[in-house]
Amino acid sequence: MTQRIGLLGGTFDPIHHGHLRAALEVREALGLDELRLIPSARPPHRERPGASAEQRLAMVQLAIAGIAGLAVDDRELQREKPSYTVDTLLSLRAELGAEVQLILLLGWDAFCGLPTWHRWQSLLELAHVLVLQRPDQAAELPEALKDLLAARSVQNPQAFTGPAGQVAFMEQTSLAISATHIRALCAAGQSIDFLLPSSVQHFIQAHGLYRDAP
Ligand code: ATP
Repeated sequence: MTQRIGLLGGTFDPIHHGHLRAALEVREALGLDELRLIPSARPPHRERPGASAEQRLAMVQLAIAGIAGLAVDDRELQREKPSYTVDTLLSLRAELGAEVQLILLLGWDAFCGLPTWHRWQSLLELAHVLVLQRPDQAAELPEALKDLLAARSVQNPQAFTGPAGQVAFMEQTSLAISATHIRALCAAGQSIDFLLPSSVQHFIQAHGLYRDAP
């Protein structure tokens, strides 16, 4: 059977249980062979007081250690500057071949902003898009995407066919955890217990991360 690979990009500064739970739910619901977390590069002026790219990558590696079906892909950090998603998908296609089914995970807000992305119409030539919906989502669907949905949406993401080109939705119960909040707690000297894996928490403490207010 064709391989089915999910892709979740993010800053992961730091990775937390919200990311991990979402990744796991999608992997199980869609029967993915693998879900890759793809840490993004950031413009240099935003690098502090968060963690460095290497530290963010190390935290993702710690978080997914021993979790079947989750993997980390560091290709965006291999480049000097932030990558466009279309370039990341092109690079994955070049490596994995034309047949593999790639599924790009996007939150509702990110999906609504899609028409502003670099070469956004090419994204669907390279991957399927799975839009993760939350009960509290606010953004309005832009006109440009209404046509896209009429032409490309499928009811059930489990039934994505072919390597790319379709859009589906999945309802998720979100854990209201954000990296911003975790950084703020660290800066205030408060506990971050139970918001993220303890291995990541130990890394943050050992490296003295996020002590300065953002
Ligand atoms: P920040 O607070 O620094 O903006 P964040 O916690 O939102 O960070 P990102 O690294 O920006 O984390 O998120 C990566 C991806 O994970 C995005 O697609 C985002 O929508 C999703 N995500 C973030 N937090 C959650 C959560 N609590 N539940 C489900 N998905 C999440």
